[in-house]
Amino acid sequence: MVALDPEWVKELARGVIDPHNGAPFGDAVSGVFVREGKVAIDLVLGYPSGSTQSKLAGLLATQLTQHPGIEAVSVDISHSIASFEVQGGLAPLAGVKNIIAVASGKGGVGKSTVAVNLALALKGLGARVGILDADIYGPSLPRMLGLSEPPKTPREGVIEPLDALGLQAMSIGVLVDSQQAMIWRGPMATQALQQMLTQTAWHNLDYLILDLPPGTGDIQLTLAQRIPVAGVVLVTTPQALALDDVRRAAAMFGKVNIPILGLVENMSTYICPKCGDEEAIFGEGGGALLCEEMGLSMLGRVPIDPNLGRSADSGSLAIGSSPTDVLAERFHDIALGVGARLARQAHNRQVRMPRIKIVD
Ligand code: ADP
Repeated sequence: MVALDPEWVKELARGVIDPHNGAPFGDAVSGVFVREGKVAIDLVLGYPSGSTQSKLAGLLATQLTQHPGIEAVSVDISHSIASFEVQGGLAPLAGVKNIIAVASGKGGVGKSTVAVNLALALKGLGARVGILDADIYGPSLPRMLGLSEPPKTPREGVIEPLDALGLQAMSIGVLVDSQQAMIWRGPMATQALQQMLTQTAWHNLDYLILDLPPGTGDIQLTLAQRIPVAGVVLVTTPQALALDDVRRAAAMFGKVNIPILGLVENMSTYICPKCGDEEAIFGEGGGALLCEEMGLSMLGRVPIDPNLGRSADSGSLAIGSSPTDVLAERFHDIALGVGARLARQAHNRQVRMPRIKIVD
């Protein structure tokens, strides 16, 4: 029997595509070991894949064992999340590898609900995640995550993030009186948000989810120009009016060179609790058409679920407390799509290695 060549096996892995982002598995191979007809492959993915690891390993193994001479394949998958390029050469934020903004063209479409559940789902996949509520005129994180205590400020200019269901969290709603924030004008609001972002002592985060204020006004544009964002997730409902607004939001992010990771269509369908039938009560395909028109990816469709509304409003969440299977599954897939798409972006060349200081 001819001995297998590890390089040949790696080349074969290039022909198998990761279904989450279309990248060849070969690019993620960190080691190939061969012994007679048996192959062991180490893959290091650029995104957390949680319980789908075994599916991905099975997919690669099935494809490789089609080739003559390969009898059995074992695949070991781990992940290493890099810091990805941000717009306009901005400097990355200390303690945060990637900021992912969640935005919508208008309020009430479920942007905050998606932001929180996306953060929890990314954490569930194995990432270190934080969430920042930048919705200055309607901060909903304190209510959704049950944040009530003010954060600790160990010294001037440093705010410790709060812990909420394992997420590092911060909201303008726990720092200042919400009535006071409501009357801030644009420049004051953006300054307060930037200060909150940079003064919070984020600890070693893979992803910081930024819940942006809804709309495409001055505040949103200034934030999009000043905050080093790796990618944005747009949230809409399927109605035509909401789609028009999301078009404006997409155009704004395009103008400031922030890549759009994709669209989430919220309150997209209703699933009958009795028969499990899923119906598009506001019409079919609005989000999909918009994606086609603008060349965006559809990250997922979230059904209307009275439990999601109810639990979010009372300070607990779909994924954090008792997930209904469909919702947890949808957010799991959305989080996989977000992480995997981001992993295909160019690495941020501005990130420097930490300097190691040796003290006697
Ligand atoms: P936004 O941040 O866009 O203003 P929110 O996330 O605050 O919107 O959601 C608005 C309201 O709709 C909240 O009461 C929330 O609980 C509810 N909601 C959001 N998404 C869903 C959903 N898929 N099913 C049921 N209720 C939802």
